[in-house]
Amino acid sequence: MARTHGQIGRLDRADLQSELRRHGLRATASRLAVLETLRTADSPSSHGEVADVLASHGWDRTTIYRNLLDLTRVGLARRLDLGDHIWRFEPTGERAADEGLIWRFVCSECGDVSLLRGVTLVVAEGAQIPASLREEHAELQVRAHCDACVTPSEKAVSAAPVDEEPAEG
Ligand SMILES: [Zn+2]
Repeated sequence: MARTHGQIGRLDRADLQSELRRHGLRATASRLAVLETLRTADSPSSHGEVADVLASHGWDRTTIYRNLLDLTRVGLARRLDLGDHIWRFEPTGERAADEGLIWRFVCSECGDVSLLRGVTLVVAEGAQIPASLREEHAELQVRAHCDACVTPSEKAVSAAPVDEEPAEG
C-alpha cells in the first residue's frame, strides 16, 4: 500500500480557503486539511487513510468523515465505491476534465487503488458502445493483482488492516 502524501502543506492555503468559501463551506482548519490531503494523494483515499494522514492534528475521526461528506455534497470531492464496499474520496477538478478517460487499477488482493496512465481504449469499428465512452467521458476500472501481490515473498507483508470486510458479490 505505497501512498505518497509528501506534498502536504505545499498547496496554496489561500486558494483552498477561497475555494471552500466559494462552495459555501466555512474554511475550518480540519476541512482545509482534508481537502489538501485529497488533492495531494496519488489515488482516491478512504476515510481511514485520510484520518491516518491527519492523525497528528488530533482531530476526531468523525470530524474528518463529516468534512469528506461536506466536500462531496458541494462537489469538491466525489465518493467512489470501487467494488470492495469501501468508500474512497477523490477531489474533483481540472484533472478529470483534461485527461479524458480515467483508468483505475484496483488490486483484487490488497485493495490498493492507483490511476493508470498512458493506457488507451481501442474500439473496433462498428462496435456498439455508449456515446459517453466513445467521447471519452468515462471511468474504467481494471481489477487484477498489483505487483506486490503477485510476488510471493511480499504477499505475507501485504496483510494490512482494511476498513471493513469486503462482501460477496
Ligand atoms: Zn495488491
